[in-house]
Amino acid sequence: AYDYIIVGAGTAGNVIAARLAESGHNDILVLEAGVSNEGVLAAQVPFLAPTLTPSMPNLPSICYDAHASGSDTPYDWNYTVVPQTHLNGRTFPFGRGRMLGGSSSVNYLAHQYGSSEDYDRLARITGDSGWAWRNMRRYIDRHEKFVPPVDGHDTTGQYIPSLHSTRGILPKSLPGFSHAIDSRVIATTQELSAEFPFNPDTGGGNVLGLGWTQSSIGGGTRSSSATTYLNSVINRRNVDVLLNAQVTKLVHTGKISGKPSFRGVQFASGPQAPTTNVFARKEVVVSAGSFGTAQILQLSGIGDHTELTSKSITTIVNNPSVGKNMSDHVLLSNNWLVRGTESLDNLLRDPVVFAAALDQWQASKTGPLANGLPNHLGFFRLPKNAPIFTTTPDPASGPTASHWELLVSNFWVNPSLPQPDTGNYLTLSVALISPTSRGTLKLASSNPFQAPLIDPNFLATDFDRYTMREAVRAIKRFTGANAWSDYIIGPVGDLAAQTDEGIDAYVRSFSTTVSHPVGTASMSPRNAAWGVVDPELRLKGAEGVRVVDASVWPFVPNAHTQGPVYLVAERAASIIRGY
Ligand code: FAD
Repeated sequence: AYDYIIVGAGTAGNVIAARLAESGHNDILVLEAGVSNEGVLAAQVPFLAPTLTPSMPNLPSICYDAHASGSDTPYDWNYTVVPQTHLNGRTFPFGRGRMLGGSSSVNYLAHQYGSSEDYDRLARITGDSGWAWRNMRRYIDRHEKFVPPVDGHDTTGQYIPSLHSTRGILPKSLPGFSHAIDSRVIATTQELSAEFPFNPDTGGGNVLGLGWTQSSIGGGTRSSSATTYLNSVINRRNVDVLLNAQVTKLVHTGKISGKPSFRGVQFASGPQAPTTNVFARKEVVVSAGSFGTAQILQLSGIGDHTELTSKSITTIVNNPSVGKNMSDHVLLSNNWLVRGTESLDNLLRDPVVFAAALDQWQASKTGPLANGLPNHLGFFRLPKNAPIFTTTPDPASGPTASHWELLVSNFWVNPSLPQPDTGNYLTLSVALISPTSRGTLKLASSNPFQAPLIDPNFLATDFDRYTMREAVRAIKRFTGANAWSDYIIGPVGDLAAQTDEGIDAYVRSFSTTVSHPVGTASMSPRNAAWGVVDPELRLKGAEGVRVVDASVWPFVPNAHTQGPVYLVAERAASIIRGY
């Protein structure tokens, strides 16, 4: 037996493993269904991130050595969403990392924490002031290690150093490769400053406006929870990590204080392999991510009694909130054909150009591959007098939180449409940041090796459809700035639509996900009639189990979600250790 068993060596799981192990007092077992991150080139080279998951199916195959463009990968769970009612019945891949580091090893590396109002709202919802921003900020100190970008450029004015830490564990930096369009983006924030103001630091709690992207990259290489947290403790005698160990359920180990206890875990290396049970003296920490966690809980008899019964699973804790309340950011990529010739499009088309860039990365960790996909991103609000607010109360976390996001890339990025054979492109992707739609994660069957039913239920509400439509209109105004007049030739395809109906049809046809699902094991006040974990992340109605990962966020924050997950995990570790 171990003191703690951690299910999933992902973003949050590795934080818990490292913080519990470094005390030296705990024996820890980490069970990970996936493979190692060691030696996986695409998990090191930032620009190759999209090749690790099937979520960007149309990137040209020259970047792919191990598998064909858009197909399943060995580093992902290779999930597909159920047909989306409000997106013309379409399905699409939904990336989830399946390797050490979990999704932090495969994600697109943008790194922020969200709006301070997200944390204050979390504190209000849960009744625990420890989740408020004024408390949570301290975990940034332990978490991040702000380092200079790999190209060594002057970063004055590109971030606010006082909002960041150089003492933490995870190297993070501003873009390490400049793009020809960077100056046009900044000029647009000056020219259209009322609608698209410059934000000197989108990663410090104040999200509104457009600024320089901060990424989980140090020295031109990806920082994941595996390269940082896990690596810091992997050689300790008190930590064991098992790979290819898929947890099939939590083991019911009797009753403690009148509650069913789950201090055991069952796992197997595959559907035909024998199962093994291991037991925890102190706690089982479930960190399998928004899909894995909700799936494991239901397989263990913790969920909606009616649904469990329909899958022939005996209910041990009847909690209808498990797997419900999923919220996620909807993604829509929009492309413009441009006159400029310095986009990265040829890098993705021409094997000779790509090989030279890879050589450069291997020699010096510099060049276009040392960078993430957007050099700029920012968060925006609908106008105060937007008609939708007469029927929908503002769902943003607060008056300085956002409704939608803009990401600027200097090449063709589009999960729904293949890169054309010729031409240079500008991509402005928009994301719905404060969705009112909620989705579900349900079991397809009682077989733990069968993929669960993932239904993000995108764009089910008027508010969500309205916000996407107005975000598309807003980015057209963005490209109308003089800064782009000698650069842009025109929008590609149905992006040209002008009417409400035309834009809505375009949105329905091409929207997918930013892969930020949360909420399937939501935190709620201790005695609430809803929710899955209490404010200290203990599983409700049970004993011996905590959940620590993206699934505990009751709403999706104003950020790419790794930062908010890291902060939650840091606080969870301090709650568990009592420091
Ligand atoms: P994960 O990090 O996914 O960890 C879960 C772990 O549990 C995985 O290792 C998984 O294999 C393991 N596991 C699951 N089930 C089992 C089981 N039954 N048994 C054993 N192990 C199991 N966020 C950003 O901030 N910036 C971005 O640019 C960004 N881009 C993204 C792009 C993609 C393609 C994806 C997939 C995600 C992206 N995200 C991004 C989101 C972000 O990475 C996630 O929100 C975050 O990493 C989730 O952390 P987690 O700990 O909840 O889960």
